[in-house]
Amino acid sequence: MDPYPKPLRDLIGALKRLPGIGEKTATRLALYILADRGNLPEELAATLKTVREQIRLCPSCFNLTDRSRCAICINPSRDQTQICVVEEPSDVLALESANTYRGLYHVLHGLISPLSGVGPDDIRIAELMERLRRPGIVEVIVATNPSVEGEGTFHYINKMISDAGLSVMVSRIASGIPMGGELKYMDQVTLASAMRYRRGVPERER
Ligand SMILES: [Zn+2]
Repeated sequence: MDPYPKPLRDLIGALKRLPGIGEKTATRLALYILADRGNLPEELAATLKTVREQIRLCPSCFNLTDRSRCAICINPSRDQTQICVVEEPSDVLALESANTYRGLYHVLHGLISPLSGVGPDDIRIAELMERLRRPGIVEVIVATNPSVEGEGTFHYINKMISDAGLSVMVSRIASGIPMGGELKYMDQVTLASAMRYRRGVPERER
């Protein structure tokens, strides 16, 4: 017999639908929320409702926003000639925390994955092409993960741009040995990628 009353069982069931949360963690979280002496349950319920109601996709870059356009798109100090293409909103957050890129973004909301039945029309590639057809964009930096799907999506975007005859420079983020990494511990794919995407050293740095 299930030792938990139905409302608690329902909460555990809902929490279990979150990525990386199994039965044990869901139960622990549900019991924690239930035992809270403050207003955690009310706060959770209210913030979940607000997020659901107010967060939408920026119509320009498809990043998350609670306004008509996202904070990056409306910032006049961002370089309007560069678009960095990423898989999901959390990638924007990661790149922004690195504090080096000053251009715009385009969030695909997925990667092309024939094995999972995700095709180019299932992600925001048509919208990217639409943006590139307008004048002003000089460079597209494809910052999808260095996975099979990430590489495949990069090649697809590159081909679309070249087939459309757009005079936009396409670049790929570098991948290879991470900072602090050691050659002897790297796998073959990483080493091959590091060699392939090696960079020349400008004369002033020699
Ligand atoms: Zn935006």
